[in-house]
Amino acid sequence: MLAYNEAVARVLESVCPLPPAEKLLPEVHTGQILAETAFARLDLPRAATATMDGFAFAHASLSIGAPLQIVGFVPAGGNFNRHLGLSEAVRIMTGASLPAGCDTVVPLEQAEQQDDRLRLATSPALGDYVRQRGDDFSRGDQILAAGTILDSGAIGLLAAAGVLQLKVYPRPKVAILSTGDELAPLTDLPQPDKIINSNAYMLAARLREEGIEPVLLGIAGDRVASLEDQLQQGLDADLLLTIGGTSTGDLDLVQTAFNNLGFSEVFWKVAIKPGKSVLFGLIGSLPVFGLPGNPSASATTFELFVRPALQRLSGFCNPLAPQLKVKLAVGVTGGGKRQQFFWGKLKIVSGGLHFFPTKQQQRSQFYDLLGVHALLPVPIDNPVLPAGSEVEVILLRSLD
Ligand code: AMP
Ligand code: MG
Repeated sequence: MLAYNEAVARVLESVCPLPPAEKLLPEVHTGQILAETAFARLDLPRAATATMDGFAFAHASLSIGAPLQIVGFVPAGGNFNRHLGLSEAVRIMTGASLPAGCDTVVPLEQAEQQDDRLRLATSPALGDYVRQRGDDFSRGDQILAAGTILDSGAIGLLAAAGVLQLKVYPRPKVAILSTGDELAPLTDLPQPDKIINSNAYMLAARLREEGIEPVLLGIAGDRVASLEDQLQQGLDADLLLTIGGTSTGDLDLVQTAFNNLGFSEVFWKVAIKPGKSVLFGLIGSLPVFGLPGNPSASATTFELFVRPALQRLSGFCNPLAPQLKVKLAVGVTGGGKRQQFFWGKLKIVSGGLHFFPTKQQQRSQFYDLLGVHALLPVPIDNPVLPAGSEVEVILLRSLD
């Protein structure tokens, strides 16, 4: 059976970033990826600027030895429209542009104003408390490289540099179809022979955590015609995923429905636990995943295969979740012929990060998924990892 590493490599080979689109900066979502180099459209600061509330003057005035005469006041955003002569000073506020002729600022605390006379308590150096024009960047400078994740810092920088419009990778449109005659929507309590389509809500919530608003296609029955019919509605998405019906039971018909829609299979079944019967391929260029129905299997295969595909579509340079070396807080027994994945929480214990596997990892247990941060892969044929071992986990969420 295909190994996890090989399977995820095949996903990444099969999926290309979406075509970038022009967006206005205020409409960019945090976490979107910049698709082109960004250049400053102006100098910052735009002129020499005071970095403290104080007094500005020409440093050369100090050699004269006479007190400076205060001839004006410059607030931030204001200007002083004449050249300052020697022995003249202005009272100036933080962020205000220095009048022509000034090059040095002394903070209020280091100066004494008597009427319009200024006495200094210190001997400032030339250029003290002044940011020069273009200190941060100059017009035309490259400020961010293509591939940058647009976090709040990046968005602030772009705004400061006057970048109003930019090319970003769009958020992928993801369609989810649940499959199974036993499934009922979350409207009322279902009959005893039905269960609620809970995985769809879980995966929709997970997508929202990633900034993606999913399209829920509802529930298809275990009949090829029903599956095909409802899958059609997801063919205009950027990624289509189904839940359930990918195993080898008589009513596992998802693969047949995919095939009828022109599916070209990349893999079916991976040597992992949970989630062995995961199915992946393309319909045209549309990446299509058939996730197994057990909640833990759906959640695990989502993280292992779907999320990297989404990151790739979204233009991330590193589509794989980072791996982190941590201490195992409680021993686990995994191994066997399939690579086993344990959900768990990361906690800081005595200054170090420890991984606490959640409960028994029994499939269909949403409890195992509560508040988790990471997945621990346990190698094939290496069944016992004692408490205290150093392990590498796949980091899915930041710590609370
Ligand atoms: P399947 O992969 O279709 O064989 O389903 C495996 C198990 O997961 C069965 O017990 C299903 O009832 C359950 N299951 C399948 N789809 C869902 C879903 N959308 N929500 C919750 N449980 C599901
Ligand atoms: Mg089923």
